[in-house]
Amino acid sequence: QAPFIFFCRPGFESDCAAEVQAIATAHNFAGYANAQPDTGYVRFHMFDESSAEQFFELLDLDDIIFARQWFWAKAELEQLPLDDRISPIQEVCAEVAMAKTLLVEHLDDDDGRELSKFCKKFSTPLTIAMEKQGLIHEDSDFRLHILFLATDHCIIGYSPIECSSPHKGGILRLKAPKNAPSRSTLKLDEAIQVLISRKQQKDAFRLGNTGVDLGAAPGGWTYQLVERGLQVSAIDNGPMDKKLMATEHVEHFKENAFTWLPEKPVNVLVCDMVEKPSLVADLMAQWLEGGHTQHAVFNLKLPMKKRFQEVADCIGLICDRLDDAGLAYFWQAKHLYHDREEVTVYFRLKARVAPN
Ligand code: SAM
Repeated sequence: QAPFIFFCRPGFESDCAAEVQAIATAHNFAGYANAQPDTGYVRFHMFDESSAEQFFELLDLDDIIFARQWFWAKAELEQLPLDDRISPIQEVCAEVAMAKTLLVEHLDDDDGRELSKFCKKFSTPLTIAMEKQGLIHEDSDFRLHILFLATDHCIIGYSPIECSSPHKGGILRLKAPKNAPSRSTLKLDEAIQVLISRKQQKDAFRLGNTGVDLGAAPGGWTYQLVERGLQVSAIDNGPMDKKLMATEHVEHFKENAFTWLPEKPVNVLVCDMVEKPSLVADLMAQWLEGGHTQHAVFNLKLPMKKRFQEVADCIGLICDRLDDAGLAYFWQAKHLYHDREEVTVYFRLKARVAPN
């Protein structure tokens, strides 16, 4: 069976494999993962074609925490002729399907990064050749992926456009703003862009809205909230960046983030504390249950081995608490490109559920 390919951060292959396995099991599909450590990807094989087709239909990148990108492999070409790699790729594609767009990708491990220049250069002539052959078509719902593992070795496959990443390797590259107090500012920037829909961003970041940053110092995350128009309460015993404080959009409280609460509900809560994930999850549940915020973005630090299980337990804890409180909510979580030993989680409260 042609495998499904899932890209992840090198070192997180077993977490990604455990998660994909859990998704398959939850839908009663039998399959197995092949994940080599530090390669930056997982191959997942289904036992029969009909299950694979159904699995393809249900997979959505938004639902997979430890994967950055995915596709269903249709062919693996080795020993490609270096003077014409395009023809064999076209032959495979002509037999499979048309695509609306294509991505020439590489993995995020050491070998993969060496291929980055080659992939960039190869993308334009391949796209032109594919268009000439009529293999790229506006009406298609598919994205074509050409994943190079070496300059003469690639895996070719497809994903539904709406359910995979438009970015090569699923990596959203961001530039650190000059005035940001810390590089971790990029984590929140990416989290907002990836986890919060445009419509919800508009709602959360209306000019004059309020935010809280728990464990804020020196202020990389607060900076992102201020940039988006919020008035922010920053909670941390440590010092905040002077330039950021000079904007007058931040009030600094040198208090314990586990006990501090706002006088009035705020629009957005963010939290980036190096703490036990279950304690952070409990704190987030308290804020959401109590209606102290509508949107919450937080990190769960994962120094342990079974990271997928830990994340699933923490999110489960919050969901149980919100269910018990009769609250409707949306959540999504991702191991972002700018995350290291952590994942970023987003919760949003919807309207209250009417009692039966
Ligand atoms: N997001 C910040 C940024 O982008 O600049 C970095 C936050 S740093 C990883 C974690 C911060 O949490 C530290 O400054 C630490 O002082 C703070 N912290 C940890 N436990 C805390 C607590 N109980 N109350 C308040 N702050 C706490």
